[in-house]
Amino acid sequence: MKNYWPRSPLFFLKWLGIACLFFACASSFAQTGASSGEPLLLARNKKSAKAPVVVKSIRHSRKADKTRVVIDLSRSAAYTISRHPASQQVRIQLAKAVIGKPLKHRRNFSVKGSLIRRIEARQDGKNRVDIALTYSGLGMHKPLVLKHPDRLVLDFYPPERAAPPFEIQTIVVDPGHGGKDPGAMSKSGLTEKEVVLDVSRRLKKLIEKRLKKKVILTRNRDVFISLKKRTRIANENRADLFISVHVNSSPRRNTKGIEVYLMGRASNRRALAVARRENAAMHDGLRNFQEMILDDLEREFTKNASLELAHFTNDAIKKNLISKYPTPALGVKKAPFFVLAHTEMPAILAELSFLSNRVEEKRLRSKSYRQRAAEALFKGIKNYIDSLNAGL
Ligand SMILES: [Zn+2]
Repeated sequence: MKNYWPRSPLFFLKWLGIACLFFACASSFAQTGASSGEPLLLARNKKSAKAPVVVKSIRHSRKADKTRVVIDLSRSAAYTISRHPASQQVRIQLAKAVIGKPLKHRRNFSVKGSLIRRIEARQDGKNRVDIALTYSGLGMHKPLVLKHPDRLVLDFYPPERAAPPFEIQTIVVDPGHGGKDPGAMSKSGLTEKEVVLDVSRRLKKLIEKRLKKKVILTRNRDVFISLKKRTRIANENRADLFISVHVNSSPRRNTKGIEVYLMGRASNRRALAVARRENAAMHDGLRNFQEMILDDLEREFTKNASLELAHFTNDAIKKNLISKYPTPALGVKKAPFFVLAHTEMPAILAELSFLSNRVEEKRLRSKSYRQRAAEALFKGIKNYIDSLNAGL
């Protein structure tokens, strides 16, 4: 035994080397195992609805005209962004998300020589991550959702460039249905297609006159236009906003109210029923569409701009329409509408009261109600555009 010891340091070093090699190999096997192979990806897709989104890292960089903050995610996530001028913060909330291990050690850090001074990430409860970006002298901010890998990118511009890089120039107003497709119909024969065309024409006039913006109607007469064509009109004209105008219907005659939709997973069963009815003009390819929507929904990104537009419109409806014509404000909802899924700009769909309800049908017949409804939609659009110009 005594003879053995003088050799032992070398002996141990050898073993240490072998052990290190082993661990290095083991960990690299683990890595390749986790990141390769299609079966694993499939499994991940199936599970992704339940597994929380992991916030892997937060990076920042400075470019000539902007500061960019990148939030790396394990997959797409629903998020909201709000700005708090009092505390000079932009806050991002990620739903169903957790802070990943590498980030746990570096949740809060200061940034030097940039518009963003400090970045703080916080686990709020079990499944929400709050990220606060403290700024000094900020102009506008612009979120951007990128894939491969999934990440949320935020660009921050200095105050002198406060004007948004895009200006709302063209608005597409989409009167639902038309021609062979009457849409909803009241007991006495008033059709959705004629009501929404009238409201849309009124809305077009208001926007052109008061905002001096270009307005394109997807139809300006009683003609059938496919849902696909409606979205093509908006996309090919590079519209900046898309407003689809509809009126609602329900088998329950006492159901009433006004609601504003944006693209997303159906908020509830009735929202899905409304989307099904409005999508009914799609005969061919409906299955494809639904498959595509599921794929889209997997990503579950909230289109922030559509959400904002929907809220501005909902508020304007409450203030300008419901104040005069009392009815429930059914609020902002999500549902997989074809026209909202395939338009490439902020897009909403308004359901302006129920043709199936006796009181609301009477309103929908009157010019004064239609004008008021158009005014309310106009105010929503105007307030949204004003908020962009204010860099809110
Ligand atoms: Zn409709």
